[in-house]
Order: sequence, then C-alpha cells, then structure tokens
Amino acid sequence: MQVYIRILEHLWPFRRQFFMSVACAIVVSFLWAMNLSVAFPVIKVLFQNDSLHAHVDATITDCETSIANENASLKKLQPGQVELQARIQQRLSTASHSLMLTTWTRDRIMPFVPRDKFDTMVMIIGILLFATVMKDLFIYVEELLVGSVVQLTVNSIRQACFRSALRLDYQSVNRIGTAQLMARMTNDIEQMTGTIRIFGITMIREPLKMIFCTAFAFVINWRLTLLTVTIVPVLGYILHRFGKKLRDASHRTMQSMSHIYTCISETFHSSKIVIAFSGYRRHRKQFLKANRAYYNASMKIVRVGAVVRPITEILATVAIFAAMFPGAYLVLRETNELWGIQLSNHPMKIEELGTLYAMLLGTMDPLRKLSGIFSVIKRGMAGSERVFELIDERSIIPEPKTPHMMVRHESAVTLQNVSFRYEGAEGGEAQRPLALKSVSLEIKFGEVVAVVGGNGSGKSTLVSLLPRFIDPAEGSVLIDGVDIREFRTLDLRRQIGLVTQETMLFNDSIYENIRYGSSEATQEQIEEAARQAHALPFISALPDGMETIVGEKGGKLSGGQRQRIALARAIVRDPSILILDEATSAVDSAGEEIIHRVLKQFSKGRTVFIISHVLNRTFLDLVSRIIVMDQGRIVSTGTHEELLESCACYRALQLSHMPMKDAA
Ligand code: ADP
Ligand code: MG
Repeated sequence: MQVYIRILEHLWPFRRQFFMSVACAIVVSFLWAMNLSVAFPVIKVLFQNDSLHAHVDATITDCETSIANENASLKKLQPGQVELQARIQQRLSTASHSLMLTTWTRDRIMPFVPRDKFDTMVMIIGILLFATVMKDLFIYVEELLVGSVVQLTVNSIRQACFRSALRLDYQSVNRIGTAQLMARMTNDIEQMTGTIRIFGITMIREPLKMIFCTAFAFVINWRLTLLTVTIVPVLGYILHRFGKKLRDASHRTMQSMSHIYTCISETFHSSKIVIAFSGYRRHRKQFLKANRAYYNASMKIVRVGAVVRPITEILATVAIFAAMFPGAYLVLRETNELWGIQLSNHPMKIEELGTLYAMLLGTMDPLRKLSGIFSVIKRGMAGSERVFELIDERSIIPEPKTPHMMVRHESAVTLQNVSFRYEGAEGGEAQRPLALKSVSLEIKFGEVVAVVGGNGSGKSTLVSLLPRFIDPAEGSVLIDGVDIREFRTLDLRRQIGLVTQETMLFNDSIYENIRYGSSEATQEQIEEAARQAHALPFISALPDGMETIVGEKGGKLSGGQRQRIALARAIVRDPSILILDEATSAVDSAGEEIIHRVLKQFSKGRTVFIISHVLNRTFLDLVSRIIVMDQGRIVSTGTHEELLESCACYRALQLSHMPMKDAA
C-alpha cells in the first residue's frame, strides 16, 4: 500500500492529465457497456420477430393493466392486512415507475426508431459502429495521456533515485555496489514502468467496465446479479494468496538480475586480467549460475501467473452460471420464484435473460483481463519496493542540525583517541579487527606530514577521516578546535584537496577533468595547476593538448599521466588541507622529484598529508614530520633523523623502500 502512495506522490504534479485520462476511461467503459446492452433490441427483433414499437406499446399496456389490477386488489383489502397492503403498494410503485419510463421512451425515443424491422437492425448496427468509433477515439486519447503521465512519473522517480544515491556516503555506496545501483535504476524501474502504465490504463478502465456492466445487470435483475457477485470475495482471497507468492518470486528475479549486472560489470571491468589469465571459464560459470537463478525465479512467476488466469476464468464462468441457471428456470417455467424464493418482480422474459447474460459476460471479461496482468503488477510492485528502498537509503554520515560556520583552516588538525572498524562482510556479523586503534595526533597548520607504514597499517583509513568518508567509532577529529561533524560536509570538503592512488578521471577533456570541483577556475589557473603537477609537458605533446578526451576512467592515458592530472585537479581547488594518498606511485622517479619540489612551494600556507612508500631525498626535504603507523596504531612520530635513531619499525621501512641510489 505504501508503495502506491509513494508512486502517487511522484504522479501528483501531473494529476491534471491523469484525471483527464480517467474521464476518458469513464466514457470508454460506459460506451462499452452500452454496446453490450444492444443485445436486448437485437434479440427482440431477430429472434422474436417483434418490432420495438410493438414491444413498447405492449409493455405500456402491461403496466397499465397491472396498475389497474393492483388498485383493484387494494380496494378489496380488509382492514388490518397491513403486510399485504405494503406488498401491493410496492408492486404498484414498480409498475408506475416502469410505466413512466416506457412512456418516456415511447414519446422521446420511439419516433426515431424505424417501424420496419430490417431498418431497425440497420439503425442498431449504425449506432454500434458509431459508439465503437467514439470509444476507440477516447481510448486513443486516454492512452496518450496515460503514456505521458507514466513517463513523467517514472522520470521523476528515476531522478529521485539518482539524487538519493548521490547523497549517500562513500561507505554505503561501496556496500551497495555499482552493479546493484545500475540494476535498480534500470531494470527495476523498467518493471515499475510497466506496472504504472497498466495501472493507468487497465486497472482503471477494466474495473469501470465492470461497474457499468454490473450496474446495468442490477437494473435488469438485481437478485440474480447478486448471485454472481458472491464470487468476488472468493476470487479476492485466491488472488491474495497467489499475490504473496508472486511478490516473493519477483523480488528473487530482481535480485538475480542484480547478480547478472554484477557479473557483467566485474568481468569486463577487469577484462585485461580476464584475457591475460584466460579466466573465461570461471566467468562463464559465474554468469551461467546467475542466469540460471534468474530463469528459475522467472519460471516461478510464469507458473503462478499461468495458474491465476484459468482459475479466474473458471470461477467467473461458474459465477455467470449461478445466475443463468435460475434465470433460465424463470424463463422456461414462466414464473418469478424458485423454491419459494422470489427471484424477479415479474416472470422473466427471454430477452431480459439474454441481456443479463451479456452484461454478466461484460462484468467477467474485465476480471479475466485483470487476472492476466496480475503477475505483471506484482512484479512491478516488487520493483517499486526496491526502487523506493534505494530512494530511502540515508547517508550514515549525518549533516549537523545547526552547522558551525567554517572559515579557512588556520590553526591545527587534531585527532583525539580515534578508533575505527570497517563493517564485516555483507550480512555477516563477523567483527573485523579495528583499522584504527586510539589514534591521537596533533598537526599544526602549515605542517607537511608524511604517513608511512606497511600495507594495511591504516594509513588510508586515517586520512579518510578528514573528508568524512568515514566517521570515527570512538574519539573525534577536530579542525581548528571544532569537531568536523559540526561543519556542513560541503564546507568541510571545500577545504580539502585529495589525490588517491586509484585516480579517477571522467570521460571528458583533460581541461574539464582538472576543472572538476572548481568550476570558477580560469584557464590560466588550470594551466598553472597542470604545470605545477608536472603534467604540462605531456599534455602539450598530445595532438589535442588540453582538449584531449581521456577515455573511460582515463583509460587513454598512462597511470602516471592520470595521477598528474588528478594532482592538478587538487591544486586548482586551492585547498587548505591537501591529502596525497600514494598519489605519485605511478609517476616515474624523475617526474616524482619534480613534483616534490613543486609541492614544497605549493604546501606553503596549507596542511599537507602525504602517504608514500618512496622515502627519497626530495621527499624527505619536503616533509616536516613523519608519522609511522603499524596495525592501526601510531608507533612513532618525528623527523627522519630522529626516527632512524629511535624507531625500529621506521628503520625496517626505510631499508625496504629506499631506492637503491639513496640507500647506498
Ligand atoms: P593502508 O595503510 O595500506 O592504506 P588501509 O587503511 O587501507 O591500509 O587499511 C587498513 C585495514 O583496514 C586493512 O587491514 C584493510 O584490510 C582494512 N580495510 C581497508 N578498507 C576496507 C574496507 N573498505 N572494508 C573493510 N576493510 C577495509
Ligand atoms: Mg592505502
């Protein structure tokens, strides 16, 4: 139910079109029921060889006679026969009512009806044709309206989905994964689209048809119609049971579709390794497994869906017979009672029974159609649930309620007893070890600190705290004495320039990649940044220079070139805190030394964190302090000379990472 309301919220802005389409649906359904009611005159003329004029006149005479009879019986009543009197009066009122209606028909409609029977038939067919054309015209308009409302609504939902995913924090995005995000924003939304369209058309039109036909049937004989309507709760119960099964199966198909997406994205993302190591078999197997799971879940839907329609059809037929059997009895025995139960006001006539049959068919046919789309609807609902689940996903990095004004950082970055633990494997409760254990640290504004340590010692985790990719589980991070959780993340991140080892470029020009995040930068500033990052030499060697398109993820450039562009991007931002996480790992050593020298200039008036494995002379010249990490702890801090003296851990690193020429 919740899902319907959520969809309605997105549909609401387009309500005018939607209500117009509903109006069209009302006209369509009415015309449809009317076309069916033509059965009455057709039977009359064709089967009973009776002209409609004669029929109307006969009905009027009948009514007049019965009114006269009832009046006579009223007069003959003994005082005290109240019950009988009431019954007679009721019959009298029915007869007068029917007399009024027939007289009106005789005076207003019959003058237009030809007296010749063949001409009458021609007229009926003409009306039928006209009504059908009108109906289809309205169907056309309705479908156009619904189509546009559906597309607009789905667009709005897709937009909300993307917006919500963008607002998520880094950890959540990683947990959900790109493939899952793609699956929800494409496949699941597609399932939902189908359903909303069906909702807009079938789910509105068919029930309306049912209502009109049932109303007509009620007018003809409400008692018999009631017999038919008893099927509705039975059918409702059955559909409810099947609906649950369908929903579960639909969720499973969509999960398997996500797995297919994951499989594709993983395989082709690492296509170089797949090809080099001939990993085809493994990926083929993985894909086969995902594909088979999808097939199984889909077949479950097919099976349940296939069962729903026949069941509905059988029930509907039984329901119609429930009315037709007693109806036929009334007609053939020329009575109005069965087993002493009154079933009609007067003995039923064949044309009434025929029209009732047509009307009941008209009620059951929409039901059949609705049951046919049942599984599509359930599937779409499951899709919608998954889509709204993503829209409702909230960042685990909360924004402050009353944010602290952030001025440019100017005094210190402080870590107070910070501990942090990554979440366990998906769904698993297994506790990972702490990635940071009670880390305390104070870095004065303007310092250039190197963070060194073995793989997995927690260096990247440490610097991830600053832009709030993660929040500490315990302790706090302060900038200029204020807990960074009190700043708006936007303001906080505005202060930070970040270059990571896995540099991410967008499939755009080099120029736009450098400008990313500093849209106000001028051409000169961008070129200056490229020069400082030692990127200008290779950029000017490219035929298109700054306008070169770098390819997906920067794939047309070498690793070192990518890193230099990423560095330029951080430089243009003019950050007060610069974080370089193995940012020059792929740059050649000559280039790296040039970058180190440039950074020495650039780091004036900024606090800089550099994670590096290469402890060469230009690097040591650049940094003012070195922090040594091991297994999530800071084991020592100091200058190169101090650490060589005091820290065994640092000496070990120094030996293993020092380039040969420096070690010598
Ligand atoms: P490094 O010093 O090499 O940069 P990291 O800070 O990246 O080390 O990692 C520290 C520890 O945290 C490692 O043991 C690693 O296994 C773990 N870790 C890092 N990133 C994640 C993650 N996204 N999920 C779970 N564990 C992680
Ligand atoms: Mg790292």
